[in-house]
Amino acid sequence: MKHRLQFFAFLTLTVMLFATSCQKNETLSGPLPKVHIIATGGTIAGASTDIGYDAGKVSIETILQAVPELKQYAELDYEQFCNIGSQDMNDSIWLSLAKRVNQVLESGKYDAILITHGTDVMEETAFFLNLTIHDPKPVILVGAMRPADAEDADGPYNLLTAVKAIVRPEAVGREVMCCLGGKIYEAGAAFKNDTHSIDALSATSVDWYLPHNANTGFYTDNLEELPEVGIVYCYGSNSTVALEAFINAGYKGIVLAGVGDGNLNQETLDLAAQAVKNGVMIVRSSRIPFGGVYTEGGEVDDEKLGFIASGSLSPQKSRILLMLALTVTQDIDTIRSYFQNGVYR
Ligand code: GLU
Repeated sequence: MKHRLQFFAFLTLTVMLFATSCQKNETLSGPLPKVHIIATGGTIAGASTDIGYDAGKVSIETILQAVPELKQYAELDYEQFCNIGSQDMNDSIWLSLAKRVNQVLESGKYDAILITHGTDVMEETAFFLNLTIHDPKPVILVGAMRPADAEDADGPYNLLTAVKAIVRPEAVGREVMCCLGGKIYEAGAAFKNDTHSIDALSATSVDWYLPHNANTGFYTDNLEELPEVGIVYCYGSNSTVALEAFINAGYKGIVLAGVGDGNLNQETLDLAAQAVKNGVMIVRSSRIPFGGVYTEGGEVDDEKLGFIASGSLSPQKSRILLMLALTVTQDIDTIRSYFQNGVYR
């Protein structure tokens, strides 16, 4: 446990130092770095309506016109990849996006990639890309909590913060990053913790760190789809209806967002253990954002029941890791090692 806390302290510190160094406004010498922008939508591309706003409406061209200062730091070009609220992100778009990012980086023409993105599932996209992109050049996702046409829009400031960060040498070889509220978080730790604040992202405790050029072994560019993995949310008195539905639908893996330390009521535990016997991979995670779920020291005998403890990954990130793991192996010990030790080989 001590080791985990130390690692969290180290990670938080490096992120803070990195973010602080980005505020210094240092001038870069030589030709400007080349940054390719891939726009996917989100509130940063939102337009106001009578009741609030619609995400994913404003083009990247218009968004960039509002931040002319960006040109001082990088030579930019852009593409409108899609224009959606990130609640509509899905496995298929993630596969296409990872393929596109790999293509752009392999072209050798760019020093970094910036992706505009909604904050609702930003941490999931960042985590997916972190496991499927294989070039060390910086990749950052940038969001906003106020629409592009708001008088106090936060998108321009976040874009400027992100561009200033990714053109710095220390941005190379890190995890995929997320930028919001003028701060930068890395994919493994980032999570949305507030439905409205402009500072809606923060970092949870993580006990492994995986720069996106690490050899994950997850090569998805030729995949059309991912194995189906669902998440079951647990609560006081939860029934097994949702778990049964995933099992009956033939899902290959199920993540249980358990209570507390990944605990499950008896009915859920028994059905999940039965599902394991029928070949379904079960990850035991927690609805609590801090602390993680581990096989040692808890109330559930993962070894005996055939469950995989999620370690520090949230249910939504566990789902992504399990989907990718199932593209390369069915071996439970190998999958356990991904969750416990990261996916270095
Ligand atoms: N639904 C929006 C999205 O994720 C809202 C949050 C945001 O962009 O900040 O795209």
